[in-house]
Amino acid sequence: MLGRILTIQREGPVDWGRFIWSDTHRVVYGPVPSRRLGSSLGINLFPGRKMCSFGCIYCDCGPTVRRKGLKEGEYVPGRELIRKIKEGLLEVKDQDVHIDFITFSGNGESTLHPDFPEIAEAVARFRNRIFPAVPLAIFTNGVHLDRRKVREALKFFDLPIVKLDAPDQKGMEEINRPGPSFTIAELLGNFHSLPRVCLSTAVIPGPKGNVGSLKSEEYLKIIEEVDPIEVHLYSFDYPTFDHDLYRASEGLMLQIAKFIATSLPFTVKVISRRNPHPEAPPLYKEGEILRRTE
Ligand code: SF4
Repeated sequence: MLGRILTIQREGPVDWGRFIWSDTHRVVYGPVPSRRLGSSLGINLFPGRKMCSFGCIYCDCGPTVRRKGLKEGEYVPGRELIRKIKEGLLEVKDQDVHIDFITFSGNGESTLHPDFPEIAEAVARFRNRIFPAVPLAIFTNGVHLDRRKVREALKFFDLPIVKLDAPDQKGMEEINRPGPSFTIAELLGNFHSLPRVCLSTAVIPGPKGNVGSLKSEEYLKIIEEVDPIEVHLYSFDYPTFDHDLYRASEGLMLQIAKFIATSLPFTVKVISRRNPHPEAPPLYKEGEILRRTE
């Protein structure tokens, strides 16, 4: 094997009430018990109104208003968010709560916010003053990395985690559901000249899934070109937007991890949770589609 495989299986109990989808109005939320980041203090740039350039079938934030450019009035201005983030960080500091990461995630795609570069810089400054030992992470769908200022702002993050759920146009359209004119070639083009990032792939078994395309040469080729710090494979332990999805077992994700690690010299992390949310999709078993009770 050229690469190596690490499994991360988080235990509970889990306070699901801290996650962004229980109250999307929060700007600083959590800390949430993140599977890959530990105690993660979330930063949400779209309080109360989800905004994203994707509409992923598994999104935990509900339906998407799909946008590439936002107009004034559709979003909370950067200066107001910066003030709220500073207040939120100071509040958490006062509570003396342990945090492992400060993470841009939340109710949509952070890099879509027109003031994202300024906000990222301000948060990195606050982090240096208030939580100097805590790294800054971001989950991004990669769509807006064609903007020079957005790409440059990634330098403020210790751990950028970029989504790639399908190596082809059809898969991306079916799973991530971007706007009509967005192509996989554009997305992959955005991966060039990036700082090193983690590549994050949702493993989706069943009829609406991507398992076949993740065991393909195309997927390997993209991983090789991106040259990521790590590849993350994960499934859904939370309620998803599409109710007809299945959750991948650790065994299935390990099969894909082995496929990658036997061909490429990367670390592949297989990420799951032992105690998923009660309304998370049912586990998919090979050769057996579980009947759902309505
Ligand atoms: S990119 Fe993230 S926020 Fe946007 S729809 Fe997909 S999962 Fe949801």
